[in-house]
Amino acid sequence: MQTVWVFGDQLNRKIGALAKAKPGETRVLLVESEALLGWPRHVQRNHFATAAMRRFGADLEAAGFEVDRRRAPTLRAGFEAHVSEHRPDEVVATEPNARAARALCGELGVSLRRSNQFLCHADDFAAWADGRERLRMEDFYRWTRRRLGYLMDGDEPEGGRWNFDADNREPPPDDPSIFTTPPRSTLDAIDEEVLDSIPESFGARPDGTWATSRRGALARLRHFVDHELARFGPYEDAITQGSWHLAHSVLSPYLNQGLLLPGEVCDRVVARYAQGGIPLASAEGFVRQVIGWREYVWGLYWLWPDHAESNAFAHHAPLPPAFTGAAKTKMACLAETLKGLEDRAWVHHIQRLMILSNFANLVGIDPKQLLAWMSSQYIDAAEWVMVPNVMGMALYADGGRMATKPYVSGGAYINRMSDSCKRCPYDPRRRTGDDACPFTTLYWDFLARHEGALQGNHRMARPLMSMRRLRDLPAVRDRAKQVLRGLEAGSI
Ligand SMILES: Cc1cc2nc3c(=O)[nH]c(=O)nc-3n(C[C@H](O)[C@H](O)[C@H](O)COP(=O)(O)OP(=O)(O)OC[C@H]3O[C@@H](n4cnc5c(N)ncnc54)[C@H](O)[C@@H]3O)c2cc1C
Ligand code: SF4
Repeated sequence: MQTVWVFGDQLNRKIGALAKAKPGETRVLLVESEALLGWPRHVQRNHFATAAMRRFGADLEAAGFEVDRRRAPTLRAGFEAHVSEHRPDEVVATEPNARAARALCGELGVSLRRSNQFLCHADDFAAWADGRERLRMEDFYRWTRRRLGYLMDGDEPEGGRWNFDADNREPPPDDPSIFTTPPRSTLDAIDEEVLDSIPESFGARPDGTWATSRRGALARLRHFVDHELARFGPYEDAITQGSWHLAHSVLSPYLNQGLLLPGEVCDRVVARYAQGGIPLASAEGFVRQVIGWREYVWGLYWLWPDHAESNAFAHHAPLPPAFTGAAKTKMACLAETLKGLEDRAWVHHIQRLMILSNFANLVGIDPKQLLAWMSSQYIDAAEWVMVPNVMGMALYADGGRMATKPYVSGGAYINRMSDSCKRCPYDPRRRTGDDACPFTTLYWDFLARHEGALQGNHRMARPLMSMRRLRDLPAVRDRAKQVLRGLEAGSI
């Protein structure tokens, strides 16, 4: 009998090796690795990963498959125990989504089937990238949209524009109750069993926010399409205490684990758009995130094996105590973002980019430490998506291989796009003095510190010129030293 080894982020009957497998002819292997669970990760992440795997195994059994579900010290140990017990004729797997798992399959002699979990296979991405000087997301997106035919009018984009991103910069609305809360699941016996079986960890216990089955994931997708899609776009960059999700789809964990597939999600969105009542900008904005950004970072992960090693700014500072939980911070925007992570293992894109990563860059945190920390915090964390987003997009640690400029800002941006500053003891307009906003002080200090590295970048010319014109720059830089000391001591 043949074994199909299904990894924990390939939980879908339509993926690769499983797509053609038939009950009676195929045994499925699912390994829960104690090494992965033992690595410090948010409890909701460990619960989600484990419960989703167990429910998928149960679904396969209900469909008639024999399923070997194993808990083992490592993936390798689980595989070896399976082989020695069942003596399969052959073990096959769908190309895994992480380098380490692919290497392991190579070492163990597992035959790999081509993956269709993404809409652009890494080989096709490499062919697209070949010979291009810059790998711009927008170029990739247009190529992909033409290829897949989403929202196209012949060879041209529907509505005459490829991209409505410039319209998506609204601050939070006065009334955040316009956003509807995604459905919740009721925890059942499987969840309790899972919680009993995973190691003690940090973060709030699961409360049903995250679905752990395909059925639950489909319900979240339905909710988004029916209730939030029409609002998707304008508030993508806004941050408000009044709504943790705004109009975001909150679907990334399901897409990354295989519970949903990117094509079916886009099909639903485009079909709902075709029925009317959904602005083109909303449908296009969502499709761009999935077939553009998501597939683009997937392709970059495979194209650039050394990306995780980037550290162009030579940043080596450790994580501040506010990140490790050793101290609280008085900075409202940061404290609220960290609380969101503790509560749900998820915060939205702008909190990841313009609060957490921006802060890390301004403070000079070692990129690899930030990468490891984020990987331990997010419900949707995966190496392929984390590395390009952190090293390329968020930190510019790759020196501009991916992004055209660093996403750094002072408090003025956060004040415009969030409601946090109202609750903060610091003043986003001030750069010196005890009540100066740490973001604002550190922003100018960052530009002064990295002036040499940034001056060749024409997109940084204006910020650098403004920095050079600051009459109080020496005082700002003194205050920056104080802020860094305060962060370390947990007093900021
Ligand atoms: C520093 C940093 C770390 C990140 N880490 C992760 C991560 O570990 N896992 C993860 O899935 N995403 C990550 N992202 C990308 C993005 O923030 C999340 O995909 C998004 O917040 C998920 O929420 P959502 O499903 O509501 O997204 P929506 O705003 O509703 O977007 C729809 C979908 O588009 C995709 N998408 C959007 N932006 C990106 C992007 N930049 N890269 C890849 N896919 C994207 C996601 O699948 C998402 O579900 C990171 C971004 C940054 C800046
Ligand atoms: S004042 Fe500065 S630290 Fe406080 S919430 Fe605003 S941006 Fe954040």
